[in-house]
Amino acid sequence: MVIELEKRHTSGVYPKRDLAIVRGRGARVWDASGREYIDCVGGHGVAIVGHCNPEVAEAIRKQAGDLVTCPEVFYNDRRAELLTRLAEIAPPGLDRAFLCNSGAEAVEGAIKFARLATGRPGIVAAMRGFHGRTFGALSATWEERYRKPFEPLVPGFSHVPYDNLDRLAEAVGPDTAAVLLEPVQGEGGVRPASPGYLQGALEICRRHGALLILDEVQTGLGRTGRMFACEHEGVVPDLMCLGKGLAGGVPIGAALLGPRIPPLPQGVHGSTFGGNPLACAAAVAAIGFIQREDLCGRAARLGTWFIEQLRALSSPRIREVRGLGLMVGIELREKVQPYLLALQERGVLALPAGATVLRFLPPLVIDERDLARVVEATAEVLTVR
Ligand SMILES: *Cc1c(COP(=O)(O)O)cnc(C)c1O
Repeated sequence: MVIELEKRHTSGVYPKRDLAIVRGRGARVWDASGREYIDCVGGHGVAIVGHCNPEVAEAIRKQAGDLVTCPEVFYNDRRAELLTRLAEIAPPGLDRAFLCNSGAEAVEGAIKFARLATGRPGIVAAMRGFHGRTFGALSATWEERYRKPFEPLVPGFSHVPYDNLDRLAEAVGPDTAAVLLEPVQGEGGVRPASPGYLQGALEICRRHGALLILDEVQTGLGRTGRMFACEHEGVVPDLMCLGKGLAGGVPIGAALLGPRIPPLPQGVHGSTFGGNPLACAAAVAAIGFIQREDLCGRAARLGTWFIEQLRALSSPRIREVRGLGLMVGIELREKVQPYLLALQERGVLALPAGATVLRFLPPLVIDERDLARVVEATAEVLTVR
C-alpha cells in the first residue's frame, strides 16, 4: 500500500528498494509488516545518535512548543546555544558558522565564502569526490552520471586524483580560491586519505594563498572515531562543511569559518530556514549526546573490531576492506547490488558506494551483538558457494 502510493506520486529520481520503513529505534528499523532490520544504512549516515534518540526527540518536542521558525535577522536562544557548542567542538579557530539545511548547502556556502575571501574563482576538487547535487556542489562532484545531464555546470572547477599531492600541487595556482576535499571519500567508495595527504594539501594551499575546505558532511560528528576526521591528522581547514547527523536526523547543514575568512558582508548569502530553532535544538541535543556517551571513542573501538572481522573473511569476491571508525566499505570484484538484497533478506540493511563497494554506516550507538550479526550475515552472503 505504502509502496504503491509512493510509486504513483514520487519524482522517480531515487533508485528504491521494495521496502517501506516505518519505525526506528537506535540501530534498528522496522518495515510496514513489522519485520526488524539492523540498519547499517543509517539514513545514509545521518542516524549517528541512533533512530529516535530519546534526548533528541525530547528536545524537538520541547522546541516545537516554544518556537519553530525564526529567521536569522533576529537572534534566538537555541541558535546562540548551537553556535557556541559548534565553536567548542570544532578544530581551533573555526569559531563562526553559517547555518543551513543540508550538506549540499553547506558546500555551496563554503565555495561562495572561499571565492569571497580570496577574490579568486578556482575550486580544485578530487576525482571520485562527492559534495552534493546543487549546481555548485555538483560542479565539485566527480561522478559523470550526476554531472552530465545538467551541463553546463559552474565554471572554475577542476578535479585531480585523490590522495596524490604531486597532482594537487600542479593544479593549485594564483587563481585557486580553494581546494575542496573529503578526509575519507564516502560515496566515491569509502577511501581514507593516506597519512600526510591532508597536511600536504594544506601546505600547498598556504603556498598559493588558497583556502582548504574539508567536506566533513559524512565523516563529521564522530563517524570516523574522532569528532572530525581531520583530527586524526591534526589538520585544521579554513572552512569545514557539516550536515547529515549534526541534528540527529533533522535537516541541517553548517559551514564553519576559520580565521582566514574575514567577517562576511551583510546580505551576501542567506537561507530562510537556516538556523531555525527546531534544528538548532535537535543539534544541541545530538552534540551533547555524542560527547556524553563518547560516541567518538565507541566508533573508534567498534570500527577497529568491525574492520578486523571483515578483513578476516576469506572470500574470492572481496578485493579490499577499507574504512575509518564506523565508516566501512568492502570493495568487491563484482557488482554489489545482489549482495545488498541478500543482506536485506538476512535482516541487515547496507548501502552501496559506487557499483562495487558494499558500505556500512551504522548508528554509532549500535551494540556489539548487532555488529557481530552484521559480520555474520556479511560472511554468509559473501562466502557461500
Ligand atoms: C551526503 C553528502 C553531501 C550532500 O549532503 P546532502 O544533505 O544530501 O545535500 C555532501 N558531501 C558529502 C561528503 C556527503 O556525504
